[in-house]
Amino acid sequence: MAFNPLNWLLGLFSLDIGIDLGTANTLVMVRGKGIVINEPSWVAIEKKSKRPLAIGAEAKEMVGRTPANVVALRPLKDGVISEFDITEAMLEYFIGKAHEQSIVPVPRPRVVVGIPSGATEVEKRAVYDATMAAGAREAYLIEEPTAGALGAGLPVGEVRGSMIVDIGGGTTELAVFSMGGIVVSRSLRVAGDEMDQDIVAYIRNKYNLLTGERMAERVKIAVGSAYPLKEEKTIAVRGRNLVSGLPEAVEVSSVEIREALSGSVRTIIDTIRDAIDEIPPELIADLMEAGICLAGGGSQLLGLSERLSTELKMRVWVAADPLTCVVRGAGSILEDLDTNKQFLTSLDRGAS
Ligand code: ADP
Ligand code: MG
Repeated sequence: MAFNPLNWLLGLFSLDIGIDLGTANTLVMVRGKGIVINEPSWVAIEKKSKRPLAIGAEAKEMVGRTPANVVALRPLKDGVISEFDITEAMLEYFIGKAHEQSIVPVPRPRVVVGIPSGATEVEKRAVYDATMAAGAREAYLIEEPTAGALGAGLPVGEVRGSMIVDIGGGTTELAVFSMGGIVVSRSLRVAGDEMDQDIVAYIRNKYNLLTGERMAERVKIAVGSAYPLKEEKTIAVRGRNLVSGLPEAVEVSSVEIREALSGSVRTIIDTIRDAIDEIPPELIADLMEAGICLAGGGSQLLGLSERLSTELKMRVWVAADPLTCVVRGAGSILEDLDTNKQFLTSLDRGAS
């Protein structure tokens, strides 16, 4: 492309933004500034008018506490955009917030958004349109596993193979890369949310105690595990006794919670095993050396990497700062768009 002084000047002052539109958390990174937004992907809307009342942390606070005319929801619940208008409102709010933080008035931003690898053409289009409608000057899409791998520092563009497993809220996404492309991938709707539901079901069945999903998530983070702990732990779980109808607290151990999570953990392991089965032998040899990189909030489940390396007989490690890999990878694209274009996912423009 010919050198264009106007574009160059614009580049000096314009905002470059990377966004991780996660099912659980949305993160925004501004080039030169770092991560400026890290909030839950929740929106509280007024039922009748569909008007957003609160977005992000404030909306998540309202979950399970909303009056009849308000509903708090996650527009991306299962890794796909189920609520287009609400996703757009959320993107607009976050992009606006990132834009607002610059001291001098700047042109509209260039934005790279991470999308689930299983996204359909229609869903990609929806994210693209929502990003443009939210005020972007240029919008680009990147598959989340690719962004995550770049953020984790994997050699995605090189010939030797590498592998990432990103365990988020709604989905677990797995990808094997070689030469900038995805060789094998899986997208599984078993991840952090499912684990929370496992805990709710377990406590209800065993103790007749009804707990909320947010309480279950706290239990999972505090004592959840995938491998026996050196020192097993306990936690008090609060809820409502289904027989008496009254509030009650029971003491639950990490051994019990591990049992509650075992089905979901099993499913994740089987999916990884199944994907490994499809990897060409040369790449397997690379992976034996490099190991499997874990990212996403779910990768922080205690003992998960130990469990995986025992079962898969491979080195498994958790990325540094696993919750921010995707946004850091997406944000890094705009440092050199021409070179990094190979990592972006194309939009079938004929669809418009
Ligand atoms: P997404 O990309 O879908 O937005 P994240 O990567 O932000 O998801 O991860 C969110 C998920 O990680 C949630 O289900 C959350 O409960 C889970 N999580 C966060 N910290 C931990 C932890 N220490 N142990 C287990 N799960 C965790
Ligand atoms: Mg994610």
